[in-house]
Amino acid sequence: MTTVQVSHGAQPDQVRHIRTEIPGPRSRALAQRREAALPAGLVSGAQVYVQAAGGGVVVDADGNSFIDFGSGIAVTTVGNAAPRVVERVTEQVRAYTHTCFLATPYEPYIAVAEELNALTPGEHEKRTALFNTGSEAIENAVKYARAFTGRPAVVTFDHAFHGRTLLTMSMTAKNRPYRRAFGPFAPEVYRAPLPYPYRWPSGPANAADEAFAHLELLVDSQVGAEAVACLIIEPIQGEGGFIVPPAGFLRRVADFCRERGIVFVADEVQTGIGRTGAWFASEHEDLVPDLVVTAKGLAGGMPLGAVTGRAEIMDAAPTGGIGGTYSGNPAACAAAIAVFDTIRQDGLLERARVIGARMMDELSDIARGHAAVGEVRGRGAMVAVELVHPGTNSPDPAAVSGLVRYCEKHGLLTLTAGTYGNVLRFLPPLTISDDLLAEGLGILRAGFAEGAYPSP
Ligand SMILES: *Cc1c(COP(=O)(O)O)cnc(C)c1O
Repeated sequence: MTTVQVSHGAQPDQVRHIRTEIPGPRSRALAQRREAALPAGLVSGAQVYVQAAGGGVVVDADGNSFIDFGSGIAVTTVGNAAPRVVERVTEQVRAYTHTCFLATPYEPYIAVAEELNALTPGEHEKRTALFNTGSEAIENAVKYARAFTGRPAVVTFDHAFHGRTLLTMSMTAKNRPYRRAFGPFAPEVYRAPLPYPYRWPSGPANAADEAFAHLELLVDSQVGAEAVACLIIEPIQGEGGFIVPPAGFLRRVADFCRERGIVFVADEVQTGIGRTGAWFASEHEDLVPDLVVTAKGLAGGMPLGAVTGRAEIMDAAPTGGIGGTYSGNPAACAAAIAVFDTIRQDGLLERARVIGARMMDELSDIARGHAAVGEVRGRGAMVAVELVHPGTNSPDPAAVSGLVRYCEKHGLLTLTAGTYGNVLRFLPPLTISDDLLAEGLGILRAGFAEGAYPSP
């Protein structure tokens, strides 16, 4: 019998080095093949193609090594190809790759459910169902809420992102690129204003009260509370630009829902599983959602989504009505178990807070010297800067794309966000070293200093 060597030393060297022009010849060749094989609208943020990744770096096909400030969009929170994830998944796929949980069940699915039931906020009796993606989990949270309440409507918020499937695209706020050309949309989706302090018309101090008054108007007078199955909100909006609602707003909305028998759903797909320095961003607001949806960081890069919530809600769905061929795939479950172990054993919640504090300090300092930075915000290892034309709050998406390109050329991978495309967001893996974190922030500072963004 042969044993597959799972080498912890397989992680790439934790250094930044740029050896070729960016993109290099191999990435350019791949771009050419791609152009002939993939639809034109299927685009990527970076121009380089990955060959290996781990710790705090991504190595491209030409051997250039980049500092990773994106974690594959908040997925590889425990690091890319994280040693425990690789080991557990390898062990799992050698035993069996798939039986379909609906056909022949297996233990790892139950273990993931037990973990999520214990870790999500609240001491009430909980149940968990597993899916493949964030969108699929959100769709199923709506199905559970509808089955439990017997009501049709779903309330979402401005700037929300809940996915790209038909229902979740209908729940997502932003037209370009998510909705345009893809209608008609799913019915019974309503949108309330999100208190976005930086852009609230009458000023940040009024945001929570005025947004809440609009929500009351929408639910009580327009839709009718007795028609609302659930309200879904991201505790900190992800694609919307890391918008943190004013303290207390989420609790107020949750109480409002409870009084009306509306299921309160926290979309923690981007914020959950340690990203903000707690297992769930809801914890920062002492929020106990009826349902919590997770995905992204849950399984270290393997596709897995989950709905965790009150037993009486989850038990209300008809027998056999929920599930899927691959939902809760054993390899993805094995990866999730390794993620839970890694966060606990390596103290990654604390690490997220440390990384967040360093990013916040450094970015606030950059902001003091550059009027193009309208706001620095976020929580834990989830921090963003919103760029505007100096002296105004008029969005400057060109500044963001200029900086993203500058950073890529200098060995730092970053991501954009925001309804206006003018937010640069940072989601480093929690395994990034202090040195690489500082070096990455240094590249960003240099990008600002060199004016690597067009002037107004
Ligand atoms: C990414 C994301 C989703 C959708 O998840 P997919 O796995 O891409 O389907 C839903 N909600 C939030 C908050 C997300 O960030």
